[in-house]
Amino acid sequence: MHLKSLTLRGFKSFASATTLEFEPGITCVVGPNGSGKSNVVDALAWVMGEQGAKTLRGGNMSDVIFAGTAGRPPLGRAEVALTIDNSDGALPIEYSEVTISRTLFRSGGSEYAINGAPCRLLDIQDLLSDSGLGREMHVIVGQGQLDGVLRATPEERRHFIEEAAGILKHRRRKEKALRK
Ligand code: ATP
Ligand code: MG
Repeated sequence: MHLKSLTLRGFKSFASATTLEFEPGITCVVGPNGSGKSNVVDALAWVMGEQGAKTLRGGNMSDVIFAGTAGRPPLGRAEVALTIDNSDGALPIEYSEVTISRTLFRSGGSEYAINGAPCRLLDIQDLLSDSGLGREMHVIVGQGQLDGVLRATPEERRHFIEEAAGILKHRRRKEKALRK
């Protein structure tokens, strides 16, 4: 399994549709300060279901929508699509290529889709959770986060182990069922 491409449209500083293609192996994103490198990482976290505006370095979730510049008006929606090569079947879905997408409208609504078919956030979380991808999966390790791991309490350490063992998925489903 590897990430094939990421398309951003109206996400943070990426007003126009922008597609990044990834080859297997290591990809480095380089550029001057403020050019949008971290925004690319934010887009990855966001499309995989990140719900915390702070994690995305904003105050509100709508801060991910292109806010406009001197020469360009703000946009009404942010869209990110991530295409994953699944030819090894690591994701539990019958497609060798999987595209997950997320759209947020300034009016508040949001949409998720898997290979173009509308779905719930939970479906995306479920799809990714055994693959090591997705929210809270520590595939994205931000500055300062390593410190957090080293200083973790026993409870927090247990959380990492549950995540690695694939138990978190079931815990999340149980919690959702109990809320109903
Ligand atoms: P550094 O090297 O300093 O870490 P970077 O390449 O990681 O820089 P980013 O943090 O990705 O830079 O990009 C910051 C830029 O994105 C800022 O210019 C900021 O104004 C712009 N930006 C963030 N959110 C939005 C938004 N909603 N609309 C328009 N521009 C935005
Ligand atoms: Mg940065």
